[in-house]
Amino acid sequence: MGKRGPKPQFNDIACLNKDCELYGLTGKGNVIGNGTSVSRGEKVRKYICRHCGKVFNDHTGTVYYDLRKEEHIIDLALKMTTKGMSEKAIADELGIEPATVRRWLGRATVKRSTDS
Ligand SMILES: [Zn+2]
Repeated sequence: MGKRGPKPQFNDIACLNKDCELYGLTGKGNVIGNGTSVSRGEKVRKYICRHCGKVFNDHTGTVYYDLRKEEHIIDLALKMTTKGMSEKAIADELGIEPATVRRWLGRATVKRSTDS
């Protein structure tokens, strides 16, 4: 068979298709390299999700990293409420709007009540 595995896996890249079961999950081995293309003189790496067939590239990936950042901040906000911090204090600490904190925490409360 000669050479095997010519397509590298990208375990730190997650699928960007929201309808995909593996959306946002890294380390699943579902994302493989799909060659490169040149966009406005810049070389762009392309990826494909073997699970759903979605194709995306380095630039699409940037959006994903922003999302991850938001998830991380939401996590922090949740930890701060458990320590008794007010929405306003959390917003100040994280440099975001109190309304945003309220939205996140509202979401988390709903999740918690269905858990029990
Ligand atoms: Zn996918």
